[in-house]
Amino acid sequence: MMGLAEHARLALAIALLERGARVSIVRHLTDLPRMVVRRLYREVLGVAPAAGQLPTTARVMGTRLRQVQASLWASLYRGLGGPGICQILDPQALLAAHDLYLQVARGQGHPPTLDLNDAWVVARDLRSGAAELRPCLRCQIHYLVCSEPRLPPTCPLCALRARALRAARGREAARAPASGSQSPASGRAERA
Ligand SMILES: [Zn+2]
Repeated sequence: MMGLAEHARLALAIALLERGARVSIVRHLTDLPRMVVRRLYREVLGVAPAAGQLPTTARVMGTRLRQVQASLWASLYRGLGGPGICQILDPQALLAAHDLYLQVARGQGHPPTLDLNDAWVVARDLRSGAAELRPCLRCQIHYLVCSEPRLPPTCPLCALRARALRAARGREAARAPASGSQSPASGRAERA
């Protein structure tokens, strides 16, 4: 007869699969045999499991907007999982953070950019130290950085703000090309 622990592992596997988790991640988090997870995958999703590589954290936050969303996800995960969350990989915190992240992103009118597999990769790298949340002293948010990043390891909100400022100055300069009274500030735009 199936014990309570076995039931809990199956329930976790189903919750992960319903949210689009890969077989390898479900196996890692539940310790269920590969054949069991593959069978569950077909039952839950009605198709055979997809093959393919997991992303890297650097790819998950390959643009400043994606870095903002990855930072939001990681902040929710740390908030829900508590202070020790970066030493373990808590599947319940992973699920809860992801559900909340989807709500927050959609509530703000932004299409979510992280799926559950991306979220797992970030959680794994937070635990190994390959990714970390850093405080921004200027805008007070915590932002995610990782090893081998595609972007400078700086705050994405400040970078986006600087970019918007540069664009506004560019539009201003384009409107008044012949005035000859270029402000000194426009020559030293911040680099993002
Ligand atoms: Zn900032």
